[in-house]
Amino acid sequence: MANTIQTIPIKTQPEYAVSIAPGLLDRCGGLIASALAPCRAAVITDSNVAGLYLLQVEDSLRAAGFAVCVYIFPAGEKSKNLSTLSQVLEFLAQEQLTRSDCVVALGGGVCGDMAGFAAGCYLRGVRYVQLPTTLLSAVDSSVGGKTAVDLRYGKNLAGLFLQPSAVVCDTDCLKTLPPLERANGAAEAIKTGVLSDEGLFTLFDTDDLTADLGEIVARCIAFKGSVVERDELDNGLRRTLNLGHTAGHAIEKCSGYTIHHGHAVAAGLSIIVRAAEALGWTEEPCAKRICAVLRRNSLPTGTEYSPQTLASAALADKKRRGDEIALVIPRKIGKCEMKTVPVGELASIFAAGWEDR
Ligand code: NAD
Ligand code: ZN
Repeated sequence: MANTIQTIPIKTQPEYAVSIAPGLLDRCGGLIASALAPCRAAVITDSNVAGLYLLQVEDSLRAAGFAVCVYIFPAGEKSKNLSTLSQVLEFLAQEQLTRSDCVVALGGGVCGDMAGFAAGCYLRGVRYVQLPTTLLSAVDSSVGGKTAVDLRYGKNLAGLFLQPSAVVCDTDCLKTLPPLERANGAAEAIKTGVLSDEGLFTLFDTDDLTADLGEIVARCIAFKGSVVERDELDNGLRRTLNLGHTAGHAIEKCSGYTIHHGHAVAAGLSIIVRAAEALGWTEEPCAKRICAVLRRNSLPTGTEYSPQTLASAALADKKRRGDEIALVIPRKIGKCEMKTVPVGELASIFAAGWEDR
């Protein structure tokens, strides 16, 4: 019997559906065909994912009436740059894709960000579909329409907003993820639990996530979708998704991006939760419980960089507004709020949450 598909509508312009279930890559052609009439589909994927999942995606697309061409780039963040983007664009042109055709991003956040960007600028915009294969892309990057590549001066500095036409998440893919990549995505999902959903947070208080992956992805996407629908272009509300990211981005940057995003966010989340508790900003104690769940999911709860070093790195960040910086502060697990603080206080706030007890 086919697995039941959870479908989450994202009511942006245009509106699209996220389909979540095990075994969906074998059925992706039919699901995509219900959003886009069969056309030419340019599948963009990386060198790891191609070996694991490309054949079944190609077969399913062809069976649903799509004509398929494929571009494979070397796996890893190092590929998320203007040079690979230009190769993808040249490939789309060489394949003579037209504006009634589509791009299919098969892979993690690197693939989704880059293929989405290529779709947004090729012929001034063609449609694209996300087939996320990492936990991070399933719970976060595949939804919301942010696309980007990295520049020499920093991450995600060139990009555009383009909502996908459909997102198809096969939770079976998540079983082949290396533990480090699984932890990386778990950090964003635990963050979502702390932000808005204690039940989601509790799902991570286990040594075996496998049983609940569909539930985890669905709850994260439902929450992210509800925020994105109200702030498609990142003008305010979307910043609430950045819990743990002020210190987290600073840790990533200080490490020269050798620390993975999710690991940096876990440390950043720990610091801000402990600080909020120490400064009396929480409604009930939650830091010990949050840090314990992060550790249980093989994530760090502290960093080697000093509060001052991180504050300096954070203040060069794009979230700064003049003399103030907006922080997302946990009130209790499942409830957070924005707080604007003077930039001069950031180092002492980080210091208040420093000690990893
Ligand atoms: P990634 O795409 O590089 O994937 C991580 C690694 O896992 C890669 O080596 C990949 O080949 C491999 N992989 C992918 N699927 C696999 C599978 N099923 N089994 C085994 N291996 C697999 O990285 P990521 O963590 O998915 O995404 C990180 C990127 O996402 C960053 O560039 C970040 O900036 C971006 N991001 C974007 C948004 C957004 O809203 N657009 C949000 C968060 C992060
Ligand atoms: Zn993040």
